[in-house]
Amino acid sequence: MFDIFKFSKKCNHNLVSPEKETAYCPDCGKLIKNEWYITRCACCGVKLKTIFRNGQVVPQFHYCINCGNSDFTIEKLENINFIDINFAVLRKTVIEDEHYCATTRCWQERTNVQPKLLIQYL
Ligand SMILES: [Zn+2]
Ligand SMILES: [Zn+2]
Repeated sequence: MFDIFKFSKKCNHNLVSPEKETAYCPDCGKLIKNEWYITRCACCGVKLKTIFRNGQVVPQFHYCINCGNSDFTIEKLENINFIDINFAVLRKTVIEDEHYCATTRCWQERTNVQPKLLIQYL
């Protein structure tokens, strides 16, 4: 019952460290995957400073400073390095994994003896 309220609350997972690939958010308890994205100019391939705008991964500036093109491609980075970190944007994705849900349920059943007894009486 309390879980419903907890999960419906919007969480930005700000306390999840970007250094780990996956971690549990201390605020909402969800498993968070850190994903780095970078944009490149579709014309000359130069790395563009990348930001979030309306939930979309986009370049900060409309035109490439190298060739003036406005087309870009989005690339997902497998590993972040200190050069790319200046260009890349971090997206925190919630992993809805069945395995993790099941683990939580087991834990609740073991600690909550009360509901089981009620079901037996009914
Ligand atoms: Zn969170
Ligand atoms: Zn370009």
